[in-house]
Amino acid sequence: MKFEDYRIGDALKRSIKELGYKKPTDIQFRTIPAVLKGEDVLAIAQTGTGKTAAFAIPVISMIDERKSSKRSERVSCLVMAPTHELALQITSAFDTLGKFTKVKTLCVHGGVEQEPQIAKLGKGVDVVVATPGRMFDLVSQGALVLKDVDTLILDEADHMLDLGFIKDIRDLMKHLPKKRQTLFFSATINPEIKKLAYSLVTNAIRIQV
Ligand code: AMP
Repeated sequence: MKFEDYRIGDALKRSIKELGYKKPTDIQFRTIPAVLKGEDVLAIAQTGTGKTAAFAIPVISMIDERKSSKRSERVSCLVMAPTHELALQITSAFDTLGKFTKVKTLCVHGGVEQEPQIAKLGKGVDVVVATPGRMFDLVSQGALVLKDVDTLILDEADHMLDLGFIKDIRDLMKHLPKKRQTLFFSATINPEIKKLAYSLVTNAIRIQV
């Protein structure tokens, strides 16, 4: 399987080529078609496996396709990350992979001023990559609206549990549409993570690499 064979836009194929990715990694091979089909995914994959592109490629493709047919300025994908560093890395992957597309990504994390983030949200953003604290601040102010989110991604869910974000994740669900696609990524699996995963994803495709 080559990236050329996927049903993703040419703009995305161009950036993948520029990045020098020759072929999909295992996690990408298994995740990309499932996400494009609209499936929920429960993936056990460590950093270094190419997991970020495994969700970024199909999400960028779906959004860019939709934007070509009708202009919509709404947050349609929310990626939750446990730390600033990871949130910035994910944002950078979306920016690089999406550089020839119309997809706009914003990183929302604490420790910096809110106003520039609010201004960017006001101009229209497709993908928000967030850590829980700042995300809830912006939601409570009405600056970040999550009611139109089609795809929720939880990255390093095990790390989020370790950091005590379980209540935040549960609260987040109140702001999201019930009908949505959920992609759950964790480096490890244990009964607690399984319980959380299955409370968020229904009929998920399980992928372990
Ligand atoms: P991640 O597991 O998402 O942290 O990615 C680890 C590294 O693999 C990143 O530097 C990516 O740019 C790189 N990478 C992702 N997908 C591929 C691929 N298909 N071929 C080569 N490198 C890749």
